[in-house]
Amino acid sequence: MQSSPSSPPAPALQITDLVKRYPTGTEALKGVSLEIADGEFFGLLGPNGAGKSTLIHCSTGLANPTSGSIRIFGNDAVNDYREAREAVGLAPQDINLDWFLTVEETLDLHGGYFGMGKRERRERVDELLESFSLTEKRNDRTRELSGGMKRRVILARALMHKPRLLILDEPTAGVDVELRLELWHYVQQVNTEGTTILLTTHYLEEAEQLCSRIAFINGGEIVDHGSSDELAERFGVGSLEDAYLELVGRKELSRAHVGGDLEDAQ
Ligand code: ADP
Repeated sequence: MQSSPSSPPAPALQITDLVKRYPTGTEALKGVSLEIADGEFFGLLGPNGAGKSTLIHCSTGLANPTSGSIRIFGNDAVNDYREAREAVGLAPQDINLDWFLTVEETLDLHGGYFGMGKRERRERVDELLESFSLTEKRNDRTRELSGGMKRRVILARALMHKPRLLILDEPTAGVDVELRLELWHYVQQVNTEGTTILLTTHYLEEAEQLCSRIAFINGGEIVDHGSSDELAERFGVGSLEDAYLELVGRKELSRAHVGGDLEDAQ
């Protein structure tokens, strides 16, 4: 679907009444609707098992929705997915690199998969290696890299074909503070350059720091969405963290109640 000059631009991601029931009978998504505008940095927050990964898998063709629709920049991402898929870069939660490829080969192969020509791939690889401080590692096999370097390669690979929508599935789960800040820097830069970002995380500070809008998901349903301040206000609390604790039914853990005893608990 192309938008004419007079019509508003298509949302980067438009999910309508999405239901996902796994063969086991688990209904991981119970009629989710969500819209992310072109250029936004959008956060999806929720506890384990809330349905975050399922939503991402349905949007990227890794899982088939039971019903509902997903459009990416106006293109159907379920039934007629070619254009939709090309517009998306996914940095998955698991480090799914081919251990026998070098860093350069990893990026090059991905570009080839998306139909990029040889010269275009070479230029893009150089550019990404430079921006992710990976140039010196270009000929290293991915299995030889540190955890931090592997995370950078995953992000560079997701960006290789210049996707307009970058999906980050818990990109900083289990990484140290230094790398977390480094990854924040990279993704903020990518967003500033015009790429729309959907980030799932359960680090509240991460969502607060990076995202202009946040949706809370719980039990397969979007419970609320808005800016960090709007969410806190609607839940009648002082911070995004307290809004989240209300959502998961654990408001007794609020730092406002315990006077900072849990300062380092997150
Ligand atoms: P989150 O990413 O928020 O932790 P998930 O989307 O992984 O949540 O899971 C949502 C629900 O779907 C959970 O109850 C989980 O056990 C279930 N689930 C996830 N993947 C599968 C699968 N492949 N088969 C069956 N159930 C699944």
